[in-house]
Amino acid sequence: MRLTDDFIQDFARVERWISEYFAHPDRYAVLPRVVPGEIEAALPAEAPEQGESFERIFADFERTIVPGLTHWNHPRFFAYFATSAAPVAILAEALAATLDVKVMLWRTSPAAAELESVVTRWLGTLIGVPEGWTGIMYDTASIGGFTALAAAREALGLGIREHGASGRDVPVLRIYATEHTHSHVAKAAIALGVGVENVVAVACDNAFRMRPDALHRAIDDDVARGMRPLAIVATVGTTSTTSIDPVAQIAEIAQRHSVWLHVDAAYAGVAAMVPEFRGILDGVEMADSLVVNPHKWLFVPMDCSVLYVRDESMLRRAFSLVPEYLATPERGVRNYMDYGLQLGRRFRALKLWFVLRHFGAEGVRERLREHVALANEFASWVDAERGWEVLAPHPFSVVCFRYKRDGMTEEEAEALNARVLEKVNETGDVFISHTKLDGKYALRLAIGNLRTQRSDVETAWQAIKAALAALNGEWRYP
Ligand SMILES: *Cc1c(COP(=O)(O)O)cnc(C)c1O
Repeated sequence: MRLTDDFIQDFARVERWISEYFAHPDRYAVLPRVVPGEIEAALPAEAPEQGESFERIFADFERTIVPGLTHWNHPRFFAYFATSAAPVAILAEALAATLDVKVMLWRTSPAAAELESVVTRWLGTLIGVPEGWTGIMYDTASIGGFTALAAAREALGLGIREHGASGRDVPVLRIYATEHTHSHVAKAAIALGVGVENVVAVACDNAFRMRPDALHRAIDDDVARGMRPLAIVATVGTTSTTSIDPVAQIAEIAQRHSVWLHVDAAYAGVAAMVPEFRGILDGVEMADSLVVNPHKWLFVPMDCSVLYVRDESMLRRAFSLVPEYLATPERGVRNYMDYGLQLGRRFRALKLWFVLRHFGAEGVRERLREHVALANEFASWVDAERGWEVLAPHPFSVVCFRYKRDGMTEEEAEALNARVLEKVNETGDVFISHTKLDGKYALRLAIGNLRTQRSDVETAWQAIKAALAALNGEWRYP
């Protein structure tokens, strides 16, 4: 009984804290002002021998941990990809932690396994995933992407699963991507024994999109040299600029050469549920796999990524391995441990289910459109200001831009913009990040949080211009 009373009280405390957190983002620096090692030094070196009260634990959470966090859920977090945890998904996470099921076999949680099939189908239908494809949840797009590439390797029929890739005559395997493809593809090449030098950087056009003619030529050249194409990775919404590779043209080349095509739409894939963006996944029906992250732009907290595959048996061929203690009599069910490296899996379907039902497809579309409109407006402010320029097309909700006065060299522009970035982020009011495009240093503002208002974007622009003005006063060219 005592335990229950405490739990109710403590939970109420957490509940109050969460609602305060959402109500007062201004109390937190988006990027914390801490130095490396500071948090570690503030915590005991060893775990306590005796249990401590929740009161004390929570006090340390508030005093030591929270001020040292980067606030990803803050409405003025504009770095990398802005994301957010919808309150309804937080409730789902509390329930998932309470139930603590492991979604590995159908029988280890039938409802969780079947809900995963249902919600991944819901999402797939909304974004136009072809009929008959299967959605499987992973923690991240990096792991989903790795899993797809592992299936692609198995599909080559080289017997690598049985015999390995070393100590025998196996051709050099090649993966085709671009310099804008996310780095997890190179990491997958490391883990799969392909090697990073066999990830071919296919040339891009001036809008940072893969050039189909260059892809075609690269594959022909490699085949002529006796190499074996393993997969092509096309990206819908690249990480730097959110550029969109021409999936349909790439898919034709993939089919002509019988090469696995993986489409990485981790960030932008959800936009396909908005009619204006429907076309971004055109051609995916000719691909083999597609990844979309609800934890990026669909208001689901970390972690929740969905890999769609045309033929789910390819994943099982790559990864199914059933020891006696996990053998199970059910037939015609999906045992999720057969689809990747993981055995125990979190109950991720619950939060996606809650979110899709809470907002409804129309509610989600409305917010995505709002974010895109805010990004367009921000880009128009940049365009209108002397010396400032937008550096890449911005099809979604990310804008790459910089300041460069007439007569400034590239080096001077880079040094100045890097200082602007530091100065903006030091304020704690706004957090932005950067990238490089054709060697040019670019500031990068990403919109994607549910609570981001137009006024937050205005604050960011003011902070950026104020940082530049302050630097122009003290700036000396190197
Ligand atoms: C963010 C991103 C990834 C990596 O996502 P994780 O889920 O963090 O692994 C991969 N590809 C693209 C295009 C991304 O934008």
